Amino acid sequence: MKARIDLERCCGHGRCYALCPEVFAEDDDGYPILSPLPIAEGLADRVRRAADNCPEAAITILTPPLPLSQEDEG
Ligand code: SF4
Repeated sequence: MKARIDLERCCGHGRCYALCPEVFAEDDDGYPILSPLPIAEGLADRVRRAADNCPEAAITILTPPLPLSQEDEG
C-alpha cells in the first residue's frame, strides 16, 4: 500500500498526522509530510482511517494490483 496527498486540496487540518503519525508528519506550517517508506501492513487500517477522515478528501490510497489466482494464470 502507498498513499498520496494532494497538496492543492489539503488545508492543513492535521487529522492525518493526528490519526497516523507513523506515516504522516507535520511540517512547520501545519501541512502533512508523507513518509517515503512503504506503508507497513499493520498501519493500513489507520492510513485508511486518516484518508476517510480527511475533510478535503486529499488523501488517496494506492493499493497494488491483486495477484492472479491460479485459475486466472490458466
Ligand atoms: S487531514 Fe487532509 S486536509 Fe488535513 S492535513 Fe491531512 S491531508 Fe491535509
